[in-house]
Amino acid sequence: MNKASTRCAGRAHWPRETDQQIYAVGIGSNRLLAGLRPRDIVQQGFRALDTRPLRLTERSPIISSRPLGPSARSYANAAAIIVTPLRPHAMLDQLQAIERAFHRSRHRRWGARTLDLDLLLWSGGAVRSKRLTVPHPALADRGFVLEPLRAIAPQWRHPITGLTIRQLTFRLAQPRPTHR
Ligand code: ATP
Ligand code: CA
Ligand code: CA
Repeated sequence: MNKASTRCAGRAHWPRETDQQIYAVGIGSNRLLAGLRPRDIVQQGFRALDTRPLRLTERSPIISSRPLGPSARSYANAAAIIVTPLRPHAMLDQLQAIERAFHRSRHRRWGARTLDLDLLLWSGGAVRSKRLTVPHPALADRGFVLEPLRAIAPQWRHPITGLTIRQLTFRLAQPRPTHR
């Protein structure tokens, strides 16, 4: 996936600043902002994700879904593929700066939010730190995240389960046995 890191493989040096990273980013909104509907906010999110040092190479259709948790509003969700020299923690900083610019409130985890940008996948594989877990821990359990991602990256393989996004989407759609 990551040509840059393949090129460096086997050499004992850190990736250069100019090496390009590829990310799948999940975009969600369930809040009206200054008359904008969640779908419009997601559209503006696409635009923000195509601003230096980020380059948006793929955008999914925007899907609407029912809310998770107590919020009464419906969600608009989408996914994007972003190419950038930023490494994962710097990429998270960038996404959070965009969220702040959309006046997002961080007070209630499941409450209404203007724009939520999640780092879903990284071309370099997995990251695990206090601030950041990639792949996103809920990726394989959320249809509203997998569906748009499948539209633009069906063959991307989850580095921990080894399954492609298409396979994960299919697996989630299967009826589960009920325990009675
Ligand atoms: P969820 O992560 O279940 O979708 P959320 O998006 O509502 O919930 P936030 O309040 O947006 O959660 O983020 C909480 C924290 O999660 C962030 O401050 C960030 O440090 C951390 N985080 C860990 N992994 C990721 C990731 N892959 N993408 C975005 N944030 C992450
Ligand atoms: Ca988030
Ligand atoms: Ca989220």
